[in-house]
Amino acid sequence: MGKRGVAVVIEDDDDIRSSLTGLLQQSGFAVHARSSGFEGVEAVRKHEPDVVTVDLGLADFDGIEALRRIRTFSDAYLIILAARPDEADAVLAFTAGADDYLPKAFRPRELRARIAAMLRRPRTAHVAAAGLLTGLVELPPAAQRSRDTPSSEPETPAEDPTTADPDFSHRGLTVHEGGRRAAVHGVPLDLTRTEFDLLLYLMKNGRAVRTKADLVRWLRNDPYNTGSFVSEREERAVEVHLSNLRRRLGDSPRKPRWVETVRGLGYRLTP
Ligand code: CA
Repeated sequence: MGKRGVAVVIEDDDDIRSSLTGLLQQSGFAVHARSSGFEGVEAVRKHEPDVVTVDLGLADFDGIEALRRIRTFSDAYLIILAARPDEADAVLAFTAGADDYLPKAFRPRELRARIAAMLRRPRTAHVAAAGLLTGLVELPPAAQRSRDTPSSEPETPAEDPTTADPDFSHRGLTVHEGGRRAAVHGVPLDLTRTEFDLLLYLMKNGRAVRTKADLVRWLRNDPYNTGSFVSEREERAVEVHLSNLRRRLGDSPRKPRWVETVRGLGYRLTP
């Protein structure tokens, strides 16, 4: 049995805090619950969780501020929970680095499914190797291999980012899929999990146009041809993630170097 996943819950409402804690524990997480933004941020620093849920309305500082502080040192999956979901708040949350934004009136099954989908696309190998959420998450083949390797065997030496061939390359932008690294002319990019996943998907698809719904399904880990329902809220979220990605790349939507918008259709790489 692998190491358990770690989650931090930041929530000032006692009932919601204990129900979130219970739900995450049932999903296999060791949970550290805190009732203020300050304590929550410190708990994230101390416990290095895989998943953090943050209440938007906290007593000391708001959830967006908590998110910003956490993002300065952690690449955990961050989920904002809002009592009264609001478009402008959602945009702020994604801009500050949230991976998901949910109403507090979430269905437990939906939250579990979303966390499972996020964990299926780990940003770093250690998250997958932690073997958390057994039964919920299938480890990618690479992580399974490393788990099955007897410990006496030497580890494969870490890839040198400066010399290893990238899996995808386009006009100086390179992506290593396995190592989950991206760089522009060799200068590493600091991307959130979601931004990296979007970039990877666009690089994989090249000049083929992908709709916002395709991008949403990719992030959910759904094959895009199943036609599963995609809400407007999710499409809006993908737009925000994409504009964050562009900002990190220093790419302009009007004169794109890498990511082109095909009006009314979706996105693709530049020629
Ligand atoms: Ca609250």
